[in-house]
Amino acid sequence: MRGTRTRHVVLVGGGHSHIQVLESFATQPLPDTRLTLVVDRPIAIYSGMVPGLIGGQYRAEELEIDVAHWARRAGAQVIIARGVRIDAENRQVAVEDGPPVPYDVASFDIGSTVAGLDLPGIREHALAARPINVFTREVEKLVARARAHDPGDPFLVVVVGGGAGGIEVAFALEHRLGQEAKGQVEVLLLEGGPTILPGYPQSLVRRVQRHAQMRRIAVHCHEKVVAAERDALRLANGENLSYHALLWATGAVSHPIFRDSGLSTDERGFVRVRSTLQFEDYENLFAAGDCATLIDHPKTPKAGVYAVRQGPYLTGNIRALLAGKPLRSYTPQSDFLTLLNLGGGIALGTKWGLSVEGRWVMKLKDRIDRRFMQRFQLSRRAGPAS
Ligand SMILES: Cc1cc2nc3c(=O)[nH]c(=O)nc-3n(C[C@H](O)[C@H](O)[C@H](O)COP(=O)(O)OP(=O)(O)OC[C@H]3O[C@@H](n4cnc5c(N)ncnc54)[C@H](O)[C@@H]3O)c2cc1C
Repeated sequence: MRGTRTRHVVLVGGGHSHIQVLESFATQPLPDTRLTLVVDRPIAIYSGMVPGLIGGQYRAEELEIDVAHWARRAGAQVIIARGVRIDAENRQVAVEDGPPVPYDVASFDIGSTVAGLDLPGIREHALAARPINVFTREVEKLVARARAHDPGDPFLVVVVGGGAGGIEVAFALEHRLGQEAKGQVEVLLLEGGPTILPGYPQSLVRRVQRHAQMRRIAVHCHEKVVAAERDALRLANGENLSYHALLWATGAVSHPIFRDSGLSTDERGFVRVRSTLQFEDYENLFAAGDCATLIDHPKTPKAGVYAVRQGPYLTGNIRALLAGKPLRSYTPQSDFLTLLNLGGGIALGTKWGLSVEGRWVMKLKDRIDRRFMQRFQLSRRAGPAS
């Protein structure tokens, strides 16, 4: 893709990989290139600290990355709109409420959404873990409701989804509501499969169960929610359960954009990418983070740590493609350090089949998360505003 004409690079989404692309282009601009960021909201939220925000450990602004600001520092035009379709043949991205955006090279880092929102009543009555900014805002309203709740009547919280996200949400809420609600709080975590934390070591599962018993959290597996009404949900076995707050933290599925565009996707609708992060069928289209499934490593978890690690590869490969140089292959690490914030200053950690817990684990998680945020927040204060 070498040439003298100005090329147009379009980044869609402001996730963990794209923020690094923008940082790199801000410090080392691309020659003969025009840059555009299409993002549905100017501020991105760093998900690793969301349980801490819910639990009252962090303030909202400590989790915020101003991606629009970073884009302007990189000399990019910013279009605040949702990308809804990709016309790969004509090299255009269709956006909501605006003209299509033409590109020579485009990259997608748009994250994921949660599964099961189309079940009856879920969209209307459950609070979904994604989009995260809506989730965190609505959690504050939930806390206010719990505060105002009749102290004589236990406030019942149901969290659906026994993966890492659902567990952190359940513990964080139990901790926060335990401090702020006047009456008793009961938290019920429902998992449709046979175990919580599938794919994680048994020792971690046992630690979570032990902590749940010590707190007010009941964990029930083999419980599939099939529908919800305003104050009760229905399980697959026909049972109805009442609730005051219903939170939906089931597994990740893709936004419809890739499937709607007729591109090659996996069974959950995520776009299939080569090890260079290029689309299977188009070398001028890239994707990273949750929204991409690596053809050679399709079971790679949808976790922020992978999106972070892919950032430098994505940056380098966009540069290499434009310069007509060879692209680098990304191989996901076979295991990564998972840290679960249980609230109250306690975290669990697991890697290589081992698990640990304690206040020091929380301190480690806090240090890792803050280091990532400082990189994008300090520079934001230091850098020239547009
Ligand atoms: C409650 C919770 C806690 C979690 N905790 C952890 C954790 O501790 N560690 C961990 O590794 N993972 C964690 N995860 C998973 C983590 O959130 C994701 O894996 C991670 O956010 C993926 O990063 P990403 O860059 O792919 O996308 P995201 O960070 O989701 O960013 C997507 C970006 O694209 C924008 N966007 C979305 N759709 C469009 C569109 N159509 N057009 C334009 N822009 C769009 C969004 O506004 C956002 O800027 C957690 C998830 C949840 C729900």
